Amino acid sequence: MRIQYKLSITFILLLVFGVTAISSYSIVFIRGYLMSEAELNMEADAAQIRISLENSSPGLHEMLGYIGRETVYNIRIWSRDGMLTETAPGSEYLNETNPNLQPEIAALLAQMASENPSEPVYRRSSDRFFVYYLLNDKPEPAEYSFLEVSRLKSEIYRPVHTIRWIIYSGMFISIAIILFVSFIFSQYLAQPILALTRASMKIADGDTTQIISLNRTDEFGTLAQSINKMAARLQEDNKQLVRSSERQKQFYADISHEIRNPLHTISGTLEILQLDNLSQEKRNKFMKSAHNQVERLNRLFQDLMTLQKSDLDSNFIQPKPFLIGDLADGFIQIYQQMAQSKGLDFQVTGNENILVYADKDRIAQVLDNLVSNAIKYTPEGAVQVSWTTSGQYVEISVSDSGIGIQKEHIPNLFDRFYRTDKARSRDSGGTGLGLAVVKSILDAHQSVIEIDSSPGTGTSIRFTLPAGKGIPQQ
Ligand code: ATP
Ligand code: MG
Repeated sequence: MRIQYKLSITFILLLVFGVTAISSYSIVFIRGYLMSEAELNMEADAAQIRISLENSSPGLHEMLGYIGRETVYNIRIWSRDGMLTETAPGSEYLNETNPNLQPEIAALLAQMASENPSEPVYRRSSDRFFVYYLLNDKPEPAEYSFLEVSRLKSEIYRPVHTIRWIIYSGMFISIAIILFVSFIFSQYLAQPILALTRASMKIADGDTTQIISLNRTDEFGTLAQSINKMAARLQEDNKQLVRSSERQKQFYADISHEIRNPLHTISGTLEILQLDNLSQEKRNKFMKSAHNQVERLNRLFQDLMTLQKSDLDSNFIQPKPFLIGDLADGFIQIYQQMAQSKGLDFQVTGNENILVYADKDRIAQVLDNLVSNAIKYTPEGAVQVSWTTSGQYVEISVSDSGIGIQKEHIPNLFDRFYRTDKARSRDSGGTGLGLAVVKSILDAHQSVIEIDSSPGTGTSIRFTLPAGKGIPQQ
């Protein structure tokens, strides 16, 4: 059953119950009120009739005739021994035709006459109210009779019928209004719930483009906003998932490509080496080429392992204090030679006794990649490695006067397998993983890397590490 109908039915049942209860209570209350009012009035009127009858100068019979025509009451006079002596004109007693007073009433009246002759006696039959008074209209006080004044209950309750009709018609009109209002109100309540349900179901089915536009400032409005936010968030997460799955696909495609190329070269070279008439000089040349390709593959796997560790291993880096001079010593000679063979000026400047707090081997890997890039991408000119302390940090920079990098490449430079010029980089043995490795190591050190580069002028790459304290460790 739809929530709108459930709400309508609940409202209607509650309100109908309320209206019926109030109406019934009102009718019972009004009946009681009318009855007690009628009794009081009857008592006062009967007392008045009694006085009039006792003091009538034309005589009781005439007076009774006169009162009988004027009053709404039925009046009878009973003799002292319970015989009906007079009935006022217009008085109707459909149910009581017995000319004798019922014995128990007669006894009651006799008791009244002896104990409290001026007080009235009340009686109710199934259809009437009665009031009895002692009537002393005789010259002799002992010769009394009883005045009986009565009225049909149905006459007393007559206004109740009208009131009941007013209440019932009011009740039905109220119910009709309630039906209408509750339908409109339940629609007002149910409409946002339906909109929210529909949207949530669509979102659950994967349609995150759903936007609920509820122009409301109540809790429904807030809920709609939360669902919209949730959908936007899911949409963003989905996009990220798609992006990362695409990146992963690209990553595997790149790996296969990077492995297939050197393997082709090695296999081709091995076939040529099997030729008998190959000169020793050519044989050496091909063997060197195959060796280069094996080294390239080796480097590729080492880089991949570093990246995998940085992704998965929480102990990827183990920082300790070390002297930066110890780090420089390791690679200066290798790269000095490499630079010289290309005719480049290679300089290393900085205080060798500066302490750094980082993972020495990983930072050596960073410098290895940056300096090898600098030499690789500098056809002529100079390559410089320098470091200085600034406060709690040590800033290290690798600069070259090489080919530089165009601005649009800089944001992607640290992506895995990204190369600005694939052909040239591959020719020079690059796989495009060097800077990704650099970034993963510096990220683990919470160090930010900065690049300044302009094509034709050169490149400068800087990063900072925390200054070390205490005794340097190897
Ligand atoms: P790998 O380092 O894996 O052997 P690679 O050097 O091509 O290969 P990265 O070190 O990641 O890969 O560098 C990515 C790209 O950035 C390079 O292909 C090159 O185009 C550009 N690049 C990096 N360093 C420099 C630099 N100093 N001068 C100019 N271009 C650079
Ligand atoms: Mg490189």
